Amino acid sequence: MDNLNTKISKTLKSLRKNRGWSLDAASKKTGVSKAMLGQIERGESNPTIAILWKIASGFDVSFSSFIDEVEQGHNIHRIVEFQQIHPKDDKINVMTIFPYDKELGLEIFIIELLPGCEHHSPAHQKGVIEHVVVARGEIEVLVSGIWHKVKENEGLKFNADTLHGYRNLSNAKATFHDIIHYPTT
Ligand code: MN
Repeated sequence: MDNLNTKISKTLKSLRKNRGWSLDAASKKTGVSKAMLGQIERGESNPTIAILWKIASGFDVSFSSFIDEVEQGHNIHRIVEFQQIHPKDDKINVMTIFPYDKELGLEIFIIELLPGCEHHSPAHQKGVIEHVVVARGEIEVLVSGIWHKVKENEGLKFNADTLHGYRNLSNAKATFHDIIHYPTT
């Protein structure tokens, strides 16, 4: 198992244990099959980004809690580490720049979309809001069934508790910041 594999598997196991959920219960909550949850827990396979989001939403935890150590407040200067989540997600690179902050209900990613990438995301938890800010290139973001063009130095804010997506129709790599806000009640 590589580091990411281990981290995801440990996080899922401990979440399920803490909640006292059987694989069956976890499957119902997340919409991910029991077989796949078992494989992920045993470190036999990594989930895709879309499946990891389903798991995070089903357990009502942040996405970054699966891929990054949570360090509350102290680490003010962060250097991004690239992580490939799953070989199927070979045109999208997700990097956590600031992992989930419980008090602010916030996590921040830098995301690279290679040319031709089209990534669809399941609905996140109720009330989750994303702010997409394009740093380089041009992307399109799918919100309520409509693709919105977002150019360099432009932003788009949307409710991410329904299906949404990101794509790069250009010939150049595009980079954007994704600031994800979770309700903090
Ligand atoms: Mn999303």
